[in-house]
Amino acid sequence: MVLQEQSVGQVMDGKALAASVRETLKEKVTKIVETGKRRPGLAVVLVGDDKASALYVKNKTQSCKKVGIESFMHTFPADTDMETLLNCIKTLNQSDVVDGILVQLPLPSHLSAEEVLAVLDPNKDVDGLTTESMGRLFAGKTGLRPCTPVGVMVLLEEHKVDVEGKHAVVIGRSNLVGKPIAMLLQQKNATVTMCHSRTKDLDKICQNADILVVAAGKREFVKGSWIKPGATVIDVGIHHTQGPDGESVISGDVQYADAAKVARHITPVPGGVGPMTVAMLLSNTITAFERRTGIK
Ligand code: NAD
Repeated sequence: MVLQEQSVGQVMDGKALAASVRETLKEKVTKIVETGKRRPGLAVVLVGDDKASALYVKNKTQSCKKVGIESFMHTFPADTDMETLLNCIKTLNQSDVVDGILVQLPLPSHLSAEEVLAVLDPNKDVDGLTTESMGRLFAGKTGLRPCTPVGVMVLLEEHKVDVEGKHAVVIGRSNLVGKPIAMLLQQKNATVTMCHSRTKDLDKICQNADILVVAAGKREFVKGSWIKPGATVIDVGIHHTQGPDGESVISGDVQYADAAKVARHITPVPGGVGPMTVAMLLSNTITAFERRTGIK
C-alpha cells in the first residue's frame, strides 16, 4: 500500500487500507462460493428520508456488491410504527440467508433504537450494538465488535503504532464509538483516559496523549496546540458543510492542517476512519456468516 508522506505527520490512509481489506474479503467470499455455499448476506434497514443516512446506506450496499456479499434493502417511510419495524427485525432474525442486520441510525424520533436492539439477534448484530455484544466486548469475550472502533484498531495496527503502555486519550463516550474504542485500546494494554463533555482541562489532557482518538461530534474542535509532538491522532468526526462557493465540504473533529504539523500519524477526513467503518461492516458480516454456518 502506498502511503502519502507529509512534511511531519504521516497520513493514515483509510481509503487505501479499506480497499485492501475489501480485496481480502472478496477472495474469502469467492472461496466460500467455490465450495458451493451461498453468499454471506447483509440486511440493511432504513427508516425515513434523512439524506446523510440514505447516502451511508448506499455506500454500504455498494461496498457489499464489491466483495460479493448479498445485500437486502428494507426501506420504510418516516411515519413507520414501532411494531412494523420490530416485525421486520424479527423476520430478518429468522431468515437463513441473512447473516447480518444493520439498522441505520438515527431512527426518526418516535422510534426507539433501544427497542430495536433488544430484539435483534446478537449473532447477526454486525454493528456490535446490542447489550449482548457490548457485554461480550467489555468482558473480553469473542463477539461482533462495533465497526468504527475496530476500524480504528486496524488502522493503528497497519501503521505499526505501538499501543502497549502508551497513554491513549479518547474524547467521547458514546456506545457507538467512544466507549468501545476505549475498551479495545485498554485490551491492547494502553492506559486509557476517557474524556467527555464535562471533562475539565481537556487541552492539557490531550497534550499528554500518545494516541488521541477524537469522537466528540464537534467540527474542528481539537486544536493543533493540543497535540503532543509525535502523537498519533485519530479523527472519527464527520461534518458536512458548505464551502464559500456553495461546494460541499467534509471535515472532522480535529483542525487537521495544524495537527498534521505536530502529529506523527494522523487520519484525514474524509478518507481516514470512514472507509474503515464500512470495511469492518463487511468483515463482520462474513464473520457472522462463518459462525452461523459453522465455518468458524
Ligand atoms: P455522540 O454525539 O453520541 O457522542 C459525542 C461524545 O462527545 C459524547 O460522549 C460527549 O460527551 C462528547 N463531547 C461532546 N462535546 C464535548 C466537549 N466539548 N468536550 C469533550 N467531549 C465532548 O457522537 P458519536 O456517535 O460518538 O459520533 C462522534 C462523531 O463521530 C460524530 O461526528 C459522528 O458523525 C462521527 N462518526 C463517524 C463515524 C465514521 O465512520 N467515521 C462513525 C460514527 C460516528
